[in-house]
Amino acid sequence: MSASLSPAALRAKERPSPLTTGHITVAGIERVTPGVQRITFAGEDLARLPDEEPGEIITLIWPEDGADRPELPVNGWRFAPDAPDQHWRNYTVRDYVADGPDGPLLTVDFVLHGDHGRCSRWATGAQPGEVLGFAGPRIHFYGEPTADWTLLVGDETGLPSIAATLDRLPPGHPTLVFVEIADAGERQEMASEADLVLEWVTRDGEPAGRSRRLEEAVRAASFPRGTAKVWVAGESLAVRGLREHLRDERGLAIGPQQAIGYWKHRDTPDDVEEA
Ligand SMILES: Cc1cc2nc3c(=O)[nH]c(=O)nc-3n(C[C@H](O)[C@H](O)[C@H](O)COP(=O)(O)OP(=O)(O)OC[C@H]3O[C@@H](n4cnc5c(N)ncnc54)[C@H](O)[C@@H]3O)c2cc1C
Repeated sequence: MSASLSPAALRAKERPSPLTTGHITVAGIERVTPGVQRITFAGEDLARLPDEEPGEIITLIWPEDGADRPELPVNGWRFAPDAPDQHWRNYTVRDYVADGPDGPLLTVDFVLHGDHGRCSRWATGAQPGEVLGFAGPRIHFYGEPTADWTLLVGDETGLPSIAATLDRLPPGHPTLVFVEIADAGERQEMASEADLVLEWVTRDGEPAGRSRRLEEAVRAASFPRGTAKVWVAGESLAVRGLREHLRDERGLAIGPQQAIGYWKHRDTPDDVEEA
């Protein structure tokens, strides 16, 4: 099985995780759209962050209530037995600068999904100087140089990875992208040298995680011929529907890291997996 993996996929499989942990400080805040807050973090601990593939996954850690800084895992992903109960969630490396004039910088795009999530609430009111922890990164997407074309599908939470991937696809590479957003105001500029066909799918009032419009748009699409590199992310139940359609009805090869639940709607059953 592993003999058929590309060198990048093999590297992803063999890379230890997490590679590094550390503290980061909020350095910049920009409202990209009404529903997305872009936060740039600075800190010398980021100097050791590898950024080999687009959209690598980073785990962010928030301090317990009343504390200024979170405690970090001390042994791989393990926290000390007396560590406080801290909030952590997975996010995407939207951008990473290793050696800019202000030192290493990490950019994360936070979807503002309301007051009911701590990360969303925090990102809405984040202030320069606040300190979070991080652990990672892990490779999620890896390029497949032998693929004839690439299919990227996601909701707002998958958009940072899709945008980071589009930054790095080879010039002229046929690429089909479907992104679900709340409404037209959530569209972002997407630059790419790939031969890109991009469809924004708006929910227009339907609830996030319960709309079927993304799957309907993908079902209605004509795909190019040849071997596809597929990547899908979004609400877990929506991703399951897309995975089944693409694999069972379209016959596309989808490995374990290629269609991932990024969050779970409160009504999604427990047996539907989330990354
Ligand atoms: C590998 C990976 C990469 C990710 N990258 C990003 C990223 O770059 N940017 C990003 O914004 N998110 C990203 N996510 C998704 C993010 O981790 C989740 O949305 C997370 O649940 C947010 O945490 P929270 O504390 O705000 O809410 P939680 O405490 O986890 O959840 C509270 C409530 O909010 C609901 N909820 C959670 N997320 C959403 C949402 N997006 N829309 C509507 N309701 C929601 C839940 O159903 C729950 O009812 C990624 C997830 C994974 C697994």
